[in-house]
Amino acid sequence: MKPLSIVIASAEAYPYVKVGGLGDVVGALPREFTKMGHRVTLFLPLYRTIDIDRFGIKPVKNVKPIPVDMAGRTEWMRPFSCEDKTGFKLYFIENSNYFSRDGVYTDPKTGRAYPDDGERWTFFARGIIETIKALSLSPDVVHCNDYQTALVPVYIKEQGILPDTRTIFSIHNIGYQGKYDPSILSFIGVGKNRFYPMSPFEFYGKVNFMKLGIEYADRITTVSPTYAEEIKTPEYGYGLEGLLSKYSHKLSGILNGIDYDIWKTENNPNLPFSYTSEDLSGKRMNKLELIKELGLPKEALDLPMLGIITRLAPQKGIDILEEIFPRFMMRDITFVLLGTGEPDYEEFFEKMALSFPKKVSANIRFDIGLSHRILAGSDILLIPSRYEPCGLTQMFAMHYGTVPVARKTGGLTDTITDFTENPESGTGFLFEEYDPEALLKAINRAITVFEDYPTWRKIMIRGMRKDFSWHQSAKIYTQLYTE
Ligand code: ADP
Repeated sequence: MKPLSIVIASAEAYPYVKVGGLGDVVGALPREFTKMGHRVTLFLPLYRTIDIDRFGIKPVKNVKPIPVDMAGRTEWMRPFSCEDKTGFKLYFIENSNYFSRDGVYTDPKTGRAYPDDGERWTFFARGIIETIKALSLSPDVVHCNDYQTALVPVYIKEQGILPDTRTIFSIHNIGYQGKYDPSILSFIGVGKNRFYPMSPFEFYGKVNFMKLGIEYADRITTVSPTYAEEIKTPEYGYGLEGLLSKYSHKLSGILNGIDYDIWKTENNPNLPFSYTSEDLSGKRMNKLELIKELGLPKEALDLPMLGIITRLAPQKGIDILEEIFPRFMMRDITFVLLGTGEPDYEEFFEKMALSFPKKVSANIRFDIGLSHRILAGSDILLIPSRYEPCGLTQMFAMHYGTVPVARKTGGLTDTITDFTENPESGTGFLFEEYDPEALLKAINRAITVFEDYPTWRKIMIRGMRKDFSWHQSAKIYTQLYTE
């Protein structure tokens, strides 16, 4: 395949900045493409939290600060850059007014999105376009991710620039669309005279960035084949189902992978002990270490330990978990949570940890090291999501020999095989209905099998030997780019 020049734009990419799965995915893809011989340029905002010294991020020489007209006010944009150690280029869009904040999307003080959300992402898209122009980049493809970068294809088409470039828009989560009051059009600078029903710029009286991305991009992808079907239905499409059905010919689902250089059970700096599918003894030692780290009683070592690592958002099925909690606590188990998000959910788990100190450990913070140790130390990982575009934690879990109990939706359907239905090939336990009883039943099914160790061990080993690498998906992306 001829090497391609690929520009990727995203609000997150690990290790520079990560909030959720988007960070993992956009962290891994540029590396994968670079390994395949393609030339990759990644655009991120220069958040205050990015460690510029660690990554050697510096202002781009020969490019002066560029004025950007934001509804009559001039904001200055300055591109910074660095080279990733795996060999691709990064550009960072700098503006202290928009990006020098403590949170990426939400203000940690209020737990809410910043009030100027639409303005910030408009500025980011314009900064990308201005940098592309200033540096005379002429990529084969520009690949945008989620609503924060959805305006990039709009500017490319509306300004008639980059005639030989094609645009891809990837939907990582349709629950977050970027919907704003029409006054945002003054900041966007185009579409003001096109705010009428059925126009790309109008969506039920608002401006919807994700709708714009879908309308303007040459191809649309989402992060699993099942989710690509689901988002064409009213239950999952969040109002965009009609539009996605209309554009079904340019929509495809490409499953995310996981980065085995980071998510590994051997020589992982985050784990006290290494282990493999041939020798699982290190997993039990990691469980014991985790029990000590979290202050749980030593007896927990022989009980099933159920973990959950998640944003505490309604999407993640926290309400059905809360509903079963009293009955769940009647069992001989331990429950370990790592997550942050909605204050009500945080409080609930903090309270549960106080009520059941020997059974529950609630870790209300963002802690990547602990996420590895919970994945390695637990027996079961819970993922009761209402919807799940792809989901990464179930793949990490299986790779770490931890068996997922998950709702049968989106990427969870595409990556987990239910044991009860497929005893010879099962890798986890799935339930269909979004319902507390269904979740409890699935947990009970899992615990029953856990008590039969030889069978449980087979499920663990099957999960560990699955191939969730990026290799296959990166190939499918580049086929799409070539098309
Ligand atoms: P989403 O992108 O919807 O949040 P995914 O399962 O695709 O869900 O990805 C979530 C990513 O964020 C995983 O890498 C997971 O380990 C990580 N994560 C979520 N919450 C935390 C937390 N509190 N601390 C550390 N990592 C977290």
